[in-house]
Amino acid sequence: MTEMTLLAARTIRTLDPAHEGDTVAVADGRILAVGDRADLIDAHPGAVVDDRYADAVLLPGFVEAHAHSIAGGIWDHVYVGYFDNRDPEGRVWAGCRSLESVLDRLREADAALDDPSAVLWAWGLDPIYFPGERLVAEHLDRVSTTRPIFVIHASLHLATVNNALMRRAGIDADTLAEGVPKDGAGNPIGELQEPAAMMLAQEAAMGFFLSLVTPEATAAYGRLAANAGITTLADLGSGSIAGDDAVAKWQRVVNDESFAARVSVFHNPGRDGADGLADIGELVKSRKAESTAKLRFGGVKFVLDGSIQGFTARLTEPYLDGKPNGLWLIPPAQFADWIRPVVDADLLLHVHCNGDEAVDVFLDAFTEATGGSPADDHRTTVQHSQLTRDDQYRRIAELGMCANLFSNHVWFWGDQHVGVTVGPQRAAGMNAAKTVLELGIPLSIHSDAPVTPLGSLHVAWCATNRRTADGEVLGETERLTVTEALHAITLGAAHQLRMDDEIGSITPGKRADFAVLDADPVDVGAGGLRDIGVHGTVLGGVHHPAG
Ligand SMILES: [Zn+2]
Repeated sequence: MTEMTLLAARTIRTLDPAHEGDTVAVADGRILAVGDRADLIDAHPGAVVDDRYADAVLLPGFVEAHAHSIAGGIWDHVYVGYFDNRDPEGRVWAGCRSLESVLDRLREADAALDDPSAVLWAWGLDPIYFPGERLVAEHLDRVSTTRPIFVIHASLHLATVNNALMRRAGIDADTLAEGVPKDGAGNPIGELQEPAAMMLAQEAAMGFFLSLVTPEATAAYGRLAANAGITTLADLGSGSIAGDDAVAKWQRVVNDESFAARVSVFHNPGRDGADGLADIGELVKSRKAESTAKLRFGGVKFVLDGSIQGFTARLTEPYLDGKPNGLWLIPPAQFADWIRPVVDADLLLHVHCNGDEAVDVFLDAFTEATGGSPADDHRTTVQHSQLTRDDQYRRIAELGMCANLFSNHVWFWGDQHVGVTVGPQRAAGMNAAKTVLELGIPLSIHSDAPVTPLGSLHVAWCATNRRTADGEVLGETERLTVTEALHAITLGAAHQLRMDDEIGSITPGKRADFAVLDADPVDVGAGGLRDIGVHGTVLGGVHHPAG
């Protein structure tokens, strides 16, 4: 007979009205019952009472349905982002609030490197916070004129490099490539835009991206999860799962008991182009058959456009100041053909659409690929959905699709959206979570880590407060209640990953996955959600303390 544990807490928020109590009975990694401590002890006299969380609050483990596993390994490189951020070991890195502090952080890292020819990699930079001061190679030359330096921006779509790196990579006045802007004298300024341009600095770019998918890097993703109370993560496309090596890596890391989360790994065929699509249904179905309790395959992710703060998202109305429209990462006219094999195989289809023009393309393509009558319960999801219009949400509802909103944007870039990208009116309607709920569309909200830090309570705080970093409230009618936000970061996300039958609430029969918090979000209220301390998680009955 397996052992039963009665896990006692100060408060349990089950998010399942049919089951309430201060104690949960767990055996074999599953929830057996929820109830009052004394009643459960009476009912199960042989059970072990575990009081370690007697002063803590249990919620269902949070579910992050849009983040990237590279959020773990990226911490091997120097963080130069604007906001404070916490690494997988729990250390808080202060944000770099000026270009000079970015350079200071890089100088420290340069001095700490032994090998004088090793590339210095850094990440998290967002030049939109330093208006009027475009970061160029000469800035980085003030850190080193001999060591190659590669700084990838927060969006991961652009990099800035120094002259030593350009010399080594042979990027110069003769380089004729898209995404390599030049100064008045015809010399490259040090910015490499989008992957093709970054790959001109092949040694540095490949070294960077390969470092993010090692087993050690992936293991760090699990530590970030435990620190945030998250027990199920998506990896929404860090690459292809066509190769056996990639799948073996996932199996070795995630199936190990020390790894602190379940992971739903989405196949991202975008970079293979149309050639990679022919067998996509068969490929992902065969991977799906290799799923375990912790490691899931069966989703496919496409990226239609770029980022709003990078001016590469596709909009139907122009950006402010007449900036040109963004970029298509997939030719719109082909998109129905791209998604048809995924739809036909009834796999999860999640598509990155930041701008409303991208949403139009997705909705048209999905309508075409399904003949306008999608399969039941398909859970096709618009990812980010930041500028989706009301008329588009009505179509999303009619097609039975889901929406996963990038609620963190209001805090991290809300002021820039008001002043620099789309203006106050569109900014107030961004990430319109209340509209989504009012139309009955299944909702989740996300961090897109490492673009913003992994942290469901922070995402919930953003969705309930809609405050910008400068303290403005953007679109107050779109604010969620605390209960709605908690649903979105648990059951709502689980639904979009097709895992709501086994996770997302504290319900008998579901997996024993819990977030262990130092305060009750319902008591604390919207204003304090992001300040609630996380003690760690329980995953299938196994304890993972925060780092
Ligand atoms: Zn993403």
